[in-house]
Amino acid sequence: MNQADVSTDDSDPNAITIEEARVRICQGLTPCIEHDLISCSAALGRVVADNVVCEVNVPSFRASAMDGYAVRVSECASPLVIAGQSLAGHPGEDSLIAFGAQRITTGARVPDDADAVVQQENVTIVGNTIRVDQQPVKGLHIRNPGTDSALGDTILRVGERIGAAERAILAAHGVTHIKVLRKIRIAVFSTGDELIEPGSTCEPGQINDANRALLLSMLDESIVELTDLGIAADTEQDLQRVVDATNDADLVISSGGVSVGDADYVKTVLEQNGTMNIWKIAMKPGRPLTFGFLGESKAFFGLPGNPVSAALTCLMFVKPAIDYLCGIRADHLPALELKLKNGLKKRPGRVEYQRAIINQDSTGTWSVSTTGLQDSHVLTSLHKANCLIELPMTSNGASDGEVVRVYPFTHFARSPL
Ligand code: AMP
Ligand code: MG
Repeated sequence: MNQADVSTDDSDPNAITIEEARVRICQGLTPCIEHDLISCSAALGRVVADNVVCEVNVPSFRASAMDGYAVRVSECASPLVIAGQSLAGHPGEDSLIAFGAQRITTGARVPDDADAVVQQENVTIVGNTIRVDQQPVKGLHIRNPGTDSALGDTILRVGERIGAAERAILAAHGVTHIKVLRKIRIAVFSTGDELIEPGSTCEPGQINDANRALLLSMLDESIVELTDLGIAADTEQDLQRVVDATNDADLVISSGGVSVGDADYVKTVLEQNGTMNIWKIAMKPGRPLTFGFLGESKAFFGLPGNPVSAALTCLMFVKPAIDYLCGIRADHLPALELKLKNGLKKRPGRVEYQRAIINQDSTGTWSVSTTGLQDSHVLTSLHKANCLIELPMTSNGASDGEVVRVYPFTHFARSPL
């Protein structure tokens, strides 16, 4: 390889793709099957462990979809006597009198022999009768039983997450408790002799540990039980001390200590405690990733130390691993294709994720622009960004006006709906 190749190509023949790394990670993991029976009021964000079958029709009775009058369609050409009323929660008589109309409100039970509800706006009141101004069709404004969900339907399935809609459905069916997967136990620690607890006195050469705040926040969701294991110094003894404290964690996440200079002691300790792999991943930021197991089945992720790299590898590998453990199907929002507002430099050889901002200009047109300096220590790039621009492996940059693939941060979020 000549000098020119070195500067223009960023590929590494030993690197694996993001997809390959995900496959390898999932191959090593065993999906969780243990479950908890919990109150639905505490179930937001949890994963359904048993299909939920509908035991009642919703709606359970014929209900009006409008405020108006319950009528028989066949009688609507004649004036109808207003006789009785059916209000939400206060049903009226079961049947109409001949040539009668029952006053009805939205959600109220429709008399058994009424076959339409005419909106109050479509009748003219004359004394104690109504004249129907628009001939209704049978079934007009009547919600039939089971039209939302019918007896025997499967309303929630294993692997689905319980969001606002799911909680509402459970409530609508009168379900108070639900079997959900138990939480995934994740222990997080940082490595590095330079790290101090924020708030302690910073001696020369020391820095505040930002990654634990970052990772503990990124992983803080209802399906996860987090343990903060603090900081491990760059020694075998201290790393072993922290590894010993991981107890019954399903996943152990560390950051730092996997770049070439540090890798040896991490490698030694991990290999003494189980198996480990250091992969070069063809992505930027976040080329080195350590994945292995402490003991038989306690999965270990060694994320890079630079905060942006730690964030990106958490998004790309740890989050999908949690989904896999929980049997959650990937239901990510699609990527967007947006025009760039500035040029982007890149060398071919890795997929690159640049922190960026989706903007709307005064004409209503959407575009995307970089947050600026993209070095992997620049935490403020994550703060300014609301999305990631993905530049493919072979790309050597993108120019102003070019359409690029964009993942809004909401793509990775688990929506409560
Ligand atoms: P390492 O992977 O340990 O070589 O760290 C790479 C870079 O990330 C170094 O500049 C570290 O000081 C920095 N770094 C490592 N861990 C943290 C952390 N927890 N918080 C902030 N920066 C970190
Ligand atoms: Mg370090």
